[in-house]
Amino acid sequence: MKIALFPGSFDPITIGHHDILQRAKVMFDRIYVSIGKNSTKHCMFTLDERMHFLHLCFDNDPQIIISQYAGLTVDFCAEIQAQFILRGLRSDADFEYEKNIAQINKEIAPSIETIFMVCNPAYSAISSTIVKDIKRNGGNISRYIPKALNGII
Ligand code: ADP
Repeated sequence: MKIALFPGSFDPITIGHHDILQRAKVMFDRIYVSIGKNSTKHCMFTLDERMHFLHLCFDNDPQIIISQYAGLTVDFCAEIQAQFILRGLRSDADFEYEKNIAQINKEIAPSIETIFMVCNPAYSAISSTIVKDIKRNGGNISRYIPKALNGII
């Protein structure tokens, strides 16, 4: 069985994340969407809120499992028996950042492959950071988040 981990902060999940997941489903039998708890990022939404948003988006999808983890991503992969780490790429900057992490992960855990998916051009400007900025300033974020979250966030 091909199992992938899609790790992130998901603060909050956007249509960019959602699109990567939908497209990745043809490649994997099961995808864990997991919030890494030890990120140094300052989050707008609590861990519980972010988990709740993910559940609302994916609870009716048997291929996707929502979870959270602390510690190294590759250690969590071992725990859930994921052979793949899935990441989305929006830009050169994403690639430079992600390449280093993927190479270090490869050194620590050689059997795990990081798979990059290039984002849909329509979503390349969308980030959780921009969604939060719009929200903080009273704007409408509905077009940037999955439909299941409209009226919730
Ligand atoms: P992290 O805190 O690990 O950067 P994020 O929640 O910001 O986590 O992102 C998780 C993954 O989703 C990363 O691989 C990121 O590059 C990817 N991603 C973020 N926004 C988009 C988007 N608009 N389109 C495609 N992939 C995206």
